[in-house]
Amino acid sequence: MPTPTRTDVPDLTENHTDDWQDGWYAHARHVPSPNFGSRPEGAAITLAVIHSISLPPGIYGGDEIERLFTNQLDWSAHPYFEQIRGAEVSAHFVVRRDGELLQFVSVNDRAWHAGRSSWQGRDNCNDYSVGIELEGLEDTSFEAAQYETLKTLLDALAQRWPIDQIAGHAHIAPGRKRDPGSAFDWAHLQALTGRPATQFAGLDKALDAMHSDTDQRA
Ligand SMILES: [Zn+2]
Repeated sequence: MPTPTRTDVPDLTENHTDDWQDGWYAHARHVPSPNFGSRPEGAAITLAVIHSISLPPGIYGGDEIERLFTNQLDWSAHPYFEQIRGAEVSAHFVVRRDGELLQFVSVNDRAWHAGRSSWQGRDNCNDYSVGIELEGLEDTSFEAAQYETLKTLLDALAQRWPIDQIAGHAHIAPGRKRDPGSAFDWAHLQALTGRPATQFAGLDKALDAMHSDTDQRA
């Protein structure tokens, strides 16, 4: 039997570099948002922030999230939209209920998802994080397909950026935000990814207790 030559072995490293072009993920649908800025010079991207969003809240499957992140939402189309009228926001990624992945901002750039925030003593989480929105409603369960996409995305991000912390918006903006909410299954995400539990803010019991009874507004 002939010995396989080196060229028979797939070069996974090389294949994986094709997954990213200038911070854009090849396996996402790209919907470029104007709502972004530069990251601070030399900022290492070490944090993934998990959010939840649906527009109007609890209604899934429309194009309102895309419209919000591209400043094309008709604010008068729903009473809830009036409450967020004029918002200029974005996230790097959105995971729809069926697991579809959308990307709005290059990971190389700073998306506008976290707002006033702090994590492990560092303020302004937008500077050094990737923002990932799950289509959903706080305290309502997420779909299996969404966890699968999230796992795949976190693996892909890890090819390029040294992300070693995964936190919810509620963890980095306590008292102000509560997404992705109590129904997000941190243990399931940890099991899927195989990352150490210490990387998941939602698996920190002390932190969770601290946040669970604060005065929280979406
Ligand atoms: Zn959020």
